[in-house]
Amino acid sequence: MGETVFSKIIRKEIPAQILYEDDEILAFKDIAPQAPIHILIIPKKEIPTVNHITEQDVHLVGKLFLVAQKLAKEFGVDSSGYRLVVNCNSDAGQAVYHLHLHLLAGRKFSWPPG
Ligand code: AMP
Repeated sequence: MGETVFSKIIRKEIPAQILYEDDEILAFKDIAPQAPIHILIIPKKEIPTVNHITEQDVHLVGKLFLVAQKLAKEFGVDSSGYRLVVNCNSDAGQAVYHLHLHLLAGRKFSWPPG
């Protein structure tokens, strides 16, 4: 599995609406939002899927959640609620093989998911 469009976003070779950035993490608006708030939170390190996470990535993966928490507060949905989604491989509908957390908010979500 090689580089994806997200690597180009990290390198600022293609545009994105960036909402958070540090040396390890980037968060930007999803190009095809599935909710009023739809943000992707990604590690800058290329990790294709959840299956590729290693012990060395534990801190990095934890940071994805802390950034999600921070953005949820900033967007004022920390109390009303939000959904975090990670798709892994084809049955889950993963389209971009660079690990990412979807932060979805601003409407009610059903369960079980579709
Ligand atoms: P997944 O199906 O979990 O792999 O989700 C990939 C997500 O990346 C989808 O929600 C796409 O809309 C989103 N996406 C793909 N290309 C871009 C892009 N250039 N900028 C922002 N979001 C993107």
